[in-house]
Amino acid sequence: MTERVTIIGSGPAGWTAAIYAARASLEPVVYEGAFNEDNRQRGTLPLGQLALTTEVENFPGFPAGDLTAYLDSAIAEDKRRYMAPHEKRGVSGPELMELMRQQAVNFGTRVVTDDIASADLSQRPFRLRTLSGEEFESHTIIVATGARANYLGLESEERFRNMGVSACAVCDGALPRFRNQPLVVVGGGDSAMEEATFLTKYASKVYIVHRRDQFRASRIMAERALNNEKIEVKWNSVVDEILGTDDQGVTGVRIRSVTDENHTEELQAAGYFAAIGHTPNTDFLSGQLETKDNGYILWTQPPGTQTSVDGVFAAGDVADDRYKQAITAAGSGCAAALDAERWLAAQGIE
Ligand code: NAP
Repeated sequence: MTERVTIIGSGPAGWTAAIYAARASLEPVVYEGAFNEDNRQRGTLPLGQLALTTEVENFPGFPAGDLTAYLDSAIAEDKRRYMAPHEKRGVSGPELMELMRQQAVNFGTRVVTDDIASADLSQRPFRLRTLSGEEFESHTIIVATGARANYLGLESEERFRNMGVSACAVCDGALPRFRNQPLVVVGGGDSAMEEATFLTKYASKVYIVHRRDQFRASRIMAERALNNEKIEVKWNSVVDEILGTDDQGVTGVRIRSVTDENHTEELQAAGYFAAIGHTPNTDFLSGQLETKDNGYILWTQPPGTQTSVDGVFAAGDVADDRYKQAITAAGSGCAAALDAERWLAAQGIE
């Protein structure tokens, strides 16, 4: 059987595309990703980046309030159990993703818990291969694989990965090794503010190391961090080295001033969290889709979701280097499903 719509990725873009495609009777299949160590290490597990975050305060439709009863009724018990309780100021990232997934399933979306390892876009229907070796064909593809967190690329980051080095405060912040210890977050965007603020729940102190003298983050999030008395900002500074031992893992971070190259300082810290932006997840495409210089997939007919290969559409953070919000990802997921539906109709594929 040749699929009509194959959606790769399981964040807000993927699930919204699935909801729209399923309601259009296109019987979409979603490859939500594999639960394996590689994906855990890279931050590319199913349900995407929102599954690695806490409260989502800016997704319309989820104002402050206790959603417990609603979530209990909407999401299967086995999924509900793993969701950490949070201050009920709205919905959490994992809850929002499970709600979207459930909504897609309710309309007949099939979900496969596997990665797409490679795709051949040179012939139609397109040929895809999963990590576990399954091969199949699809008339259209919606790429919604999102983006993953970047690291600075220091050897010491690699050396102490999972021994105090992380790019996900929400995933790792509560670990015993970080409790009541000073921690370092590098970056000046919303992620850095969010991670630093979150870590103050556990840490004795949190340093934000930023390479400029002002944050890129939105004002509200920057102010929240700056007003937190546990947070100290090291402005105009870059991380030179993560310090530590094989036994203890991270014990500190050496930073260097960008205004005076000779000035270094060692911060004692049990953890180092990278929050310096993201890389789109396009490896499996092996360069078959045109991208922008920064590697994000190029939308060739904006505001449409078409890519450089006819019949392949892109949605969400994998193509969006500008807004990168859950709501904009969901919006482009909707657009991609509508674009795929029209493309199939134009080709006379039922
Ligand atoms: P970002 O906005 O691209 O910020 C990345 C930060 O890391 C910048 O401050 C940048 O410095 C710094 N940086 C990048 N490369 C670096 C390097 N090699 N060395 C040192 N510093 C480096 O990324 P983000 O914070 O992950 O946010 C991505 C998007 O998600 C944004 O649109 C953001 O609004 C959104 N987001 C929203 C929320 C929320 O609303 N709850 C939470 C998290 C993220 P410069 O400033 O000097 O370039």
